[in-house]
Amino acid sequence: MSDNVINLTCDLCSKSFKMGPILYQGKFLPTYGANICNRCYQGNTDGWAPHLENKIIAIAKSNGLAIPERNEVGLLPNGLS
Ligand SMILES: [Zn+2]
Repeated sequence: MSDNVINLTCDLCSKSFKMGPILYQGKFLPTYGANICNRCYQGNTDGWAPHLENKIIAIAKSNGLAIPERNEVGLLPNGLS
């Protein structure tokens, strides 16, 4: 069943991570159409840090998605909450 494990590349930090039936080292964020590793996600649970905004906005635009409104702390939402 390990055939079901797939290797993905984080759209923010370019590191690879694995996604499979048991192992989930990252998340797919439908809001942005982005694959993000847990490390990037967990470092930005309040919203995307300003230095990552250009990247996450570019990803959303390349996927034809609208940029979400900023959250209560003025950051772009992380896409899951
Ligand atoms: Zn990452």
